[in-house]
Amino acid sequence: APARDIAVLGATGSIGTSALDVIARHPGRLKVGLLAAGSNVEALLDLCRRHRPRHAVIADASAFPALRDGLREAGLETTAHPGDALDALVAGDACDTVVAAIVGAAGLPSTLAAARAGKRLLLANKESLVLAGALLMAAAREGGATIVPIDSEHNAIFQCLPDRHAHAGLRRLVLTASGGPFRGRSRASLADVTPAQAIAHPKWSMGPKISVDSATLMNKGLEVIEAHHLFAVPGERIDVLVHPQSLVHSLVEFVDGSTLAQLGLPDMRTALAVGLAWPERIASGVAGLDLLAEGGRLEFEPPDLEAFPCLRLAFDALAAGGTAPAVLNAANEIAVSAFLQGQVGFLSIPRLIEDAMTALPPAPARTLDALAEADAAARRHATAALARFA
Ligand code: NDP
Ligand code: MG
Repeated sequence: APARDIAVLGATGSIGTSALDVIARHPGRLKVGLLAAGSNVEALLDLCRRHRPRHAVIADASAFPALRDGLREAGLETTAHPGDALDALVAGDACDTVVAAIVGAAGLPSTLAAARAGKRLLLANKESLVLAGALLMAAAREGGATIVPIDSEHNAIFQCLPDRHAHAGLRRLVLTASGGPFRGRSRASLADVTPAQAIAHPKWSMGPKISVDSATLMNKGLEVIEAHHLFAVPGERIDVLVHPQSLVHSLVEFVDGSTLAQLGLPDMRTALAVGLAWPERIASGVAGLDLLAEGGRLEFEPPDLEAFPCLRLAFDALAAGGTAPAVLNAANEIAVSAFLQGQVGFLSIPRLIEDAMTALPPAPARTLDALAEADAAARRHATAALARFA
C-alpha cells in the first residue's frame, strides 16, 4: 500500500527536508510518525514543532538531554529517544514507510531494520547498498519490504521498469551523470581545488558528502554498484553517460531496441513523491519540464576516467566483489571527510581509496560481520594513510 505513517531518517538533511516538504503537501494522506537526526538538536526540534511526530531520535548521545528537554518545553507529545532505540522504532508500528536518508554507512542498521520488518523503504542511503547490497536485498525479499529507490537515476530506472516482464527483456542500464563542477577539466588542473569549489554543484543542491562524491564521480561509481543490486544487472551491462543538463535521469534499453528514459527537473521531491505514492502519483511541488529552457539541447558525452579515476575504482570493486565495495565505500568516506576538513587535496581522494583497495584485497562477504570488519579495517587503513597522502 502507498505510504501513510512515515519515518524520516536523516530528517535534518537535504533529502530529509525535501521528503518533509512533499509530505506536508498531503496532510490528509501522509503523516510523520518518526524523525531521526545525527546531532543537530535545534533543527530536529524545529521539525518536531512543524510536523508533530510521535517519536524523535537523536543519534549523538550528548545531544539527547537537549532533545528531551526541548520537546517538553515546546509542549509536544513527541517522545524523545537516544540513537540506540532507532532500529526497533523503525521496525515497530510507529511507521509503515521509512525514508532512509542518513548519510554514509551509519545508515545501514536502520535501513536493514526497515527491510527486515517489511516496510515500504524509500532508499536514498546508497552507501548501505554499496556496503551490504546482497544482504539488504535478501532482507527486503524475506521481510516483504518494497524498496523504492530515491536516488534520481535509480528512481528513473524504477519508473521505466514497472514489472517483472519488462525486466526479463532488459539489455542494459544507462546511468546519467551531470559531470559535477569539474566536468571538462584535466586531472592536473584539479590538484588545488578547494572544498567550497567541490561542493558547488552546478545542478543539484545536496549535502556536503554526496556533493564531493559528485565532483570526483565516485557518486556515479557508488550508483553503478547500487544499480547492480537494485535491478540485478551485472556491471558489464551498466553504462555511464555524462549529461550536463541533468534532465534525463537515466535510461533503460530493452532487447527489442527500445530505450525508455525518465525526464524531469533536477529536484529530489519528484523521486520522493514517486516513492510515497507508488503506484499512484501525487503532487511534489516540482514544476513540469520545459525542454526549451536549456536552449532546447540535451547533450551526452562519455565520462573522463583519466581525470576522474573514482568511477573506474568503483567498477573494479564491483567486479572484484566480496568485501571490495565495502572497502571502497569506507575509504571514500574517510578520504572525503579529510578533504572537507582540509587535511588532504582533491587528487588524494582516489589515491587513498586505491591504496586501501590494494592493501585489503577482496575476501568473501557472506555475513554482516564480515562486511562490518572490512568496513572498519578500511577506515583504520585509510585514516592511518592520511598523513602519507597529505
Ligand atoms: P545531508 O548531509 O544533507 O544529511 C544527512 C542527514 O543524516 C542529516 O539529517 C544528519 O543529521 C543525519 N545523520 C548523520 N549521521 C547520522 C547518524 N549516525 N544517525 C542518524 N542520523 C544521522 O545528506 P543528504 O541528504 O545529501 O544525503 C543523505 C543520503 O541520501 C546520502 O546517502 C546520499 O548519498 C543520498 N542521496 C542524496 C541526494 C541529495 O540530493 N541530497 C541524492 C541521492 C542520494 P544532522 O543534521 O543532525 O547531522
Ligand atoms: Mg544520484
